[in-house]
Amino acid sequence: MQNEDQIWRLVDERRDDYIGLADRIWEMPEIAYNEYKSTAEHKAMLEKEGFRISENLAGIPTAVMGEAGEGGPIIAILGEYDALPGLSQEAAHPEPKPRPGDGMGHGCGHNLLGSASLMAAAAVKDWLAANNLPGRVRYYGCPAEEGGAAKAFMVREGCFEDVDIAISWHPAGFSGVNDAMSLANTRIDFSFTGRASHAAASPHLGRSALDAVELMNVGVNYMREHMPSDARIHYAILDTGGVAPNVVQATAKVRYAIRARDLTELWPLIERVKKVAEGAALMTETTVTHKVISAVSNLLGNTPLEKAMYGALTRLGPPPFDAEDKALAEKFQATLSPEDIRSAYRRVGMKVKPNTPLCDEIVPIDARGAPMMGSTDVGDVSWVVPTVQARGATYAIGTPGHSWQLTAQSKSSIGNKGMIHVAKVMAATAVEALQNPALIDAAKADYRDRTDANPYVCPLPTDVMPPIRKPAA
Ligand SMILES: [Zn+2]
Repeated sequence: MQNEDQIWRLVDERRDDYIGLADRIWEMPEIAYNEYKSTAEHKAMLEKEGFRISENLAGIPTAVMGEAGEGGPIIAILGEYDALPGLSQEAAHPEPKPRPGDGMGHGCGHNLLGSASLMAAAAVKDWLAANNLPGRVRYYGCPAEEGGAAKAFMVREGCFEDVDIAISWHPAGFSGVNDAMSLANTRIDFSFTGRASHAAASPHLGRSALDAVELMNVGVNYMREHMPSDARIHYAILDTGGVAPNVVQATAKVRYAIRARDLTELWPLIERVKKVAEGAALMTETTVTHKVISAVSNLLGNTPLEKAMYGALTRLGPPPFDAEDKALAEKFQATLSPEDIRSAYRRVGMKVKPNTPLCDEIVPIDARGAPMMGSTDVGDVSWVVPTVQARGATYAIGTPGHSWQLTAQSKSSIGNKGMIHVAKVMAATAVEALQNPALIDAAKADYRDRTDANPYVCPLPTDVMPPIRKPAA
């Protein structure tokens, strides 16, 4: 059943090559804007597949794109390959055991994310050639999803301007269509400047920047009661102004992450946080400046594309996990709490199914899950191109995001089977759009309905540039 379509056979033929690619990326975890080796691996695979390659997209050296086909509509399939700090872990090992090295790990499964998307794009390329049809397929290798907002910079530079539809996915505990709920988000640094002084001999001459940071945090914490209930604000103090308590701290810096349901709700919330910062500066006779570090938009759904992807999923069936995969998943579930597992079901809107360590069905398209309270830079793409995302079951149900358990399963038979399965889902969705121009028209009409009255405004100020890093020596 998983192979009855030509497009699915074209995915399966590539199995070993793409498991190899995902494993190599897993072995070389690189964090945001530092994915030089991972990008080189993706570029080499694009070359091997015969794609026409564009590098340095939006001036980012770790962003790469491959295109194949001629004329017709342009289908973009988006991949990622950045890792996370502090999540190093032995592959498929169900107890915490970091690998030797710098502590980085693929705790969000982006090694699978990039590999499955490139695999899908390559299968669609061969399908177009075999059927002699017009149409172009592109694989976008997108860096720095984790806190780096690379796709927002790529959107700002027009990288998706001529794209008709975009398709992507994310590793998950379940197989289904992503319900397009994520928060718009921005990170802003507030820097306070006061006046140093001896804290005992002349405290009246000092003006404490650290006091200002503390008062700002108190002010924002009081604001929480009076903001939209699904907005989120968190902060980290980046500079406390020094370690000597007998010196009045002349500088201090706090980083705020501000999230809201959409940009329309985010903008006024940012203004309120700025007012609290100014109030704290006024109270302490310090001065404050702020600098936006990154920003992403909320995800926009697209009903026709979601229905098309769901159709592909129901024809394909759930991922073909076997008894060995389930036995391994059970070992990972043994490291989780019952609440981890319950809340995973709650998030996708399904009833808890006992003794089911791995997803064995498709999440119904009308399941009403709890909204995802994170953010993703796919959001910005969805504001400029009709976009659909799958969730691909690549780990035991209940595995927390950004965890050692997730790193471990991202190089395992579970991750591999889930990756190939979701590549088939994306490739079949692309093929459906290429065969059926009415689907692309409907996707565009749905997109216009959602954006006409409320067009995209890039949340990145024009002077903010991607924080590009040099390759490690
Ligand atoms: Zn992720």
